[in-house]
Amino acid sequence: MTDSGLTAAAERLCLQNFGNGVFIRGIVEFSNVCGCDCLYCGIRKSCRNVSRYTMNRAEILSAVRAGYEAGIRSFVFQSGEASVYAVDDFCRIIEAVHRQCGEAVAVTLSVGERCGREYRRLFDAGADRFLMRFETANPRVYALNHPGRSLESRLEALHTLKEIGYETGTGFLIGIPHEEPDDFELNLETLIAFRPHMVGVGPFVPAPQTPAAAFPPGPFEKVLQAYSRIRLALPKVNLASVTALDSLVPQGRYKALRAGANVYMPNLTPPDFRRRYRLYEKKSAADAFSDWPRVLEEEMKRFDRRPLWNEIGTSPMMDEPGGGIKRPEISPVMTASER
Ligand code: SAH
Repeated sequence: MTDSGLTAAAERLCLQNFGNGVFIRGIVEFSNVCGCDCLYCGIRKSCRNVSRYTMNRAEILSAVRAGYEAGIRSFVFQSGEASVYAVDDFCRIIEAVHRQCGEAVAVTLSVGERCGREYRRLFDAGADRFLMRFETANPRVYALNHPGRSLESRLEALHTLKEIGYETGTGFLIGIPHEEPDDFELNLETLIAFRPHMVGVGPFVPAPQTPAAAFPPGPFEKVLQAYSRIRLALPKVNLASVTALDSLVPQGRYKALRAGANVYMPNLTPPDFRRRYRLYEKKSAADAFSDWPRVLEEEMKRFDRRPLWNEIGTSPMMDEPGGGIKRPEISPVMTASER
């Protein structure tokens, strides 16, 4: 199939399954403190020029209130990988989010690898979804990009999340530094075999003052191709159009809605903090203006889509028998040269 045939088929399938409504998730980047040194990341531990912050409980709840008033019923709390809050305190914040909103909202965490016990306690406190990309399914490339970490432990953590009962999202970084020619296929294969409930796949975008600053960004066309193939393989998955797309082409995030994506994630982080959560260059500020919900609505209309305000947007894949758990696929898939 040609690329345009592929994206058209993916869009058709997406419309069949979800109609023209797009699920909305408000993201709150609550801390940029990080103990990891991922080569490509603008908030890696070794980036000395980053002004570090952690939003306090009141600041987090106030960002949630603003999002709630705009019609958001699904919140993503993202941070670096550091225990900036003791588990108990973090649990209290999650409970407070639910209490403050009153009606049902979804709480998604994107805080990286933690132990199973911690995942369980956060789940019991009301975190019902978790996003964590495996970044690359090539163990060598993984190790090069993530000093001191392994693909195996990342995948193990993803399976633990699924077993606990989280609605689980994962994905990879297209054009991750040191990527090998077969990796795109390997990444797709690994992602699809995991049967995630949600998917977040994005392009690598260089971040200044990182060891990856001189690597080329992941090509936009390849991201669209990935979205289309993922939609065709997992018709009911919640597939996010990620923020980094706006750094590659104008309106990149809206364009991806025409290639199979059905989720859009406005940024709710207050401007002072948002400026300091720079994972990569030219990070979109599209949602930084007070009238962003209206702009979002208008822009989506131009792409024949509409935001689904006041909806939690649970992944239809949660209804699959066993929630899609397939434990035997746990080991990292071998790369071609290792087979
Ligand atoms: N600490 C959490 C959240 C990480 S930030 C975790 O480990 O899951 C969320 C995502 O941003 C990462 O998974 C990574 O894929 C992406 N990211 C980081 N640096 C990037 C860059 N330079 N370009 C594009 N995406 C990047």
